[in-house]
Amino acid sequence: MTPPKCTLCKTQQTNFPVKVYLSSYNLKLCQKHFIEWFENRVATTIEKYRMFTPHDKILVAVSGGKDSLGLWFLLSRLGYHAEGLYIDLGIPEYSSQSRTYAQNLASRIQRPLHVVDLASELASIPELRQWSRKPACSLCGTLKRYYMNRIARENAYTVLATGHNLDDEVAVLWNNVMHWNMEYLAKQYPVLPAEGPFLKKVKPLCRISEKESALYTLFHNIPYIKPECPYSTHASSLENKRILQQLEEEKPGTKITFYTGFLKNLSPLLRHPERISSPLTLCIVCGEPTTTEVCAVCQLKQKIQGDNHPPS
Ligand SMILES: [Zn+2]
Ligand SMILES: [Zn+2]
Repeated sequence: MTPPKCTLCKTQQTNFPVKVYLSSYNLKLCQKHFIEWFENRVATTIEKYRMFTPHDKILVAVSGGKDSLGLWFLLSRLGYHAEGLYIDLGIPEYSSQSRTYAQNLASRIQRPLHVVDLASELASIPELRQWSRKPACSLCGTLKRYYMNRIARENAYTVLATGHNLDDEVAVLWNNVMHWNMEYLAKQYPVLPAEGPFLKKVKPLCRISEKESALYTLFHNIPYIKPECPYSTHASSLENKRILQQLEEEKPGTKITFYTGFLKNLSPLLRHPERISSPLTLCIVCGEPTTTEVCAVCQLKQKIQGDNHPPS
């Protein structure tokens, strides 16, 4: 039996061994052509949704995982002005390891990495858990949003890029449809425009699957943190991902069709300005955007500095 040929090698008269089969697109690709396909797909997504241009100053939120590290590497390869932000949550082992991966990539691509050390700014996530009734993940989300927005504004970045991939977006979309969360559906889009004190936010990997993202970092030898955060409690999101993966295996292309169909057909009907903007004021303590008088982060700070003991 003759080995399969790379779909793109066939048209370009090259002959490299097939390394990847992308069933959603029925493409068999060698390593070189997979990298080309991947980078071209992200570049097209950036243009299609007008995420940014070479004139923008981009801040990439880097967690130490495959998606955000691969994204930062790719943006620097494409010649964009992209710098990194790593937020050290102070979770034993997990944070120090993921921080090292982020720092290693920064020196490899010779781009600056901002590091926010949560333990010295406020308190580590393990400590903060004692002070807040919120689940660790939602607490962490609040803090990440706060520092991403703040660092971006203080350093005059024009756009904030995150590594959310197709699987993440589809799992969220699925959940929002299942519960008809109209407000969330209206906001789910690869680009959120700048709104008052909030920076423009973009998801350049929204049309890239988890598997494709993992292959890209593998082919470029980018080490990343593999375990999930030890506090992660995304049980329902993992369950949704499992169901969607089953549908994908039975009918390849289901995820990308579902997601891009939503962006094309339903999203334009939902995205009225009054639906996607929420009433905002500025925190009277730190000046960051908030929906309450004192923002959630300053409230936490006041609790901790108030010489109180954690609620038992
Ligand atoms: Zn090829
Ligand atoms: Zn505040």
